[in-house]
Amino acid sequence: MEYKLKIPLQQHIGAPCKPVVSAGERVKKGQLIAAPEKLGANIHASLSGVVTAVTGEYIEIEPDKEQPEDYVPIKETSSMLEAIKEAGIVGMGGAGFPTHVKMDVDLQGGTVIANGVECEPLLSHNVRQMEQNPEIVYRGLKYAMQITNASRGYIAIKAKNKKAVEAMKSVIDDPRIEVREMPDIYPMGEERALVREILGQLLRPDQLPSAARAVISNVETLSRICEAVEKRKPVISKNVTVIGRLKSGRQARVFFDVPIGTPIAELIEKAGGFEGDFGEIIMGGPFTGKAVDLDCVVTKTTGGIIVTDPLPREKRKAGLLVCGCGANEARLREVAEKMGACVAGVERCKQVVDVKGGIKCENPGNCPGQAEKILKLKKMGADVLIVGTCSDCTNTVMGVAPKLKLPVYHHTDHVLRTVGHPLVRRLKK
Ligand code: SF4
Repeated sequence: MEYKLKIPLQQHIGAPCKPVVSAGERVKKGQLIAAPEKLGANIHASLSGVVTAVTGEYIEIEPDKEQPEDYVPIKETSSMLEAIKEAGIVGMGGAGFPTHVKMDVDLQGGTVIANGVECEPLLSHNVRQMEQNPEIVYRGLKYAMQITNASRGYIAIKAKNKKAVEAMKSVIDDPRIEVREMPDIYPMGEERALVREILGQLLRPDQLPSAARAVISNVETLSRICEAVEKRKPVISKNVTVIGRLKSGRQARVFFDVPIGTPIAELIEKAGGFEGDFGEIIMGGPFTGKAVDLDCVVTKTTGGIIVTDPLPREKRKAGLLVCGCGANEARLREVAEKMGACVAGVERCKQVVDVKGGIKCENPGNCPGQAEKILKLKKMGADVLIVGTCSDCTNTVMGVAPKLKLPVYHHTDHVLRTVGHPLVRRLKK
């Protein structure tokens, strides 16, 4: 192997883990290399090799050329919850919340929802996993129901992903569990949107699904639970979608079990390599992903690597419309700057509220109407809009902005244009 692994000490919500290995030490694939002191999740070597550096941020490993098929199993535990903790499982849909903490609840007959919505456009590793290996997701869901004392299980999938819907239905042998088909709008996979759609209860932005006696877990997370329980396997790899401006074409490629700590440059090379000049490399999906540098690495929460076309140039003054589930102010300012536009003003969708230092939407994906905000941005001097809004709200933006002669960019435009995906604009009902 030509590259080194750089395994971050923080791949989860909480505090960074403390290394338990030193530079020069030989480590085996699956060996524990860092453990949390506070809220966090164990970190294991994703490949066998020699530790070449330990810093406050990461552990670097030079992998051996020959890698074993097997791994160091997690130690024997007295419960499934302990196995999840030992395996270092976190929310692999992107949230990164330690799963052993999330699952440590008594739902008293409540509900576990397997989140297979994959609501960001372009990403397809969750859908592919359900199509190719529905069993592992299903068994993970059953373990999660057992751990949390739930009596209902749902698997949420967009109705358009017919193959995944059929594959999941084909393995269900328990009348307490069913597939729920979801519409193809953003942000259908948001936790509170799922609780609202499936259980009919709208939670406040500061409430967790547990307030509705529910736990929501991404389908890859459930598959890792299954691996930890049945195979004593720690989290040492991640499923990732790579897509965009690549020599091999612009269709999505799914890589299963990419070792944690793999440089994204390596993964892009494996997917065919860059095609000409690119605009951004986005880690995550078009709506909530971050623009990153090439020296970034795959972590437990990396879902997508997207290589985009260059951003369009725009010299007019831009008004920014912030969303609680899509682009926040920092991301919209970054997009405006990369386009060359100066910012005339910033407004938030009126359903955006502050929660614990971040922002959230009061009712994800149900538009409150954007006319007032757009008029305000025009008054501030905006000649164009850059919006980060959900599908439903973009629909109403498009009902107002053209009448005021305000051209609209969505912050996902350059990303979606790269692969010929329809832009986020007016939804066809
Ligand atoms: S309603 Fe507003 S804040 Fe909520 S998801 Fe839509 S644009 Fe974002």
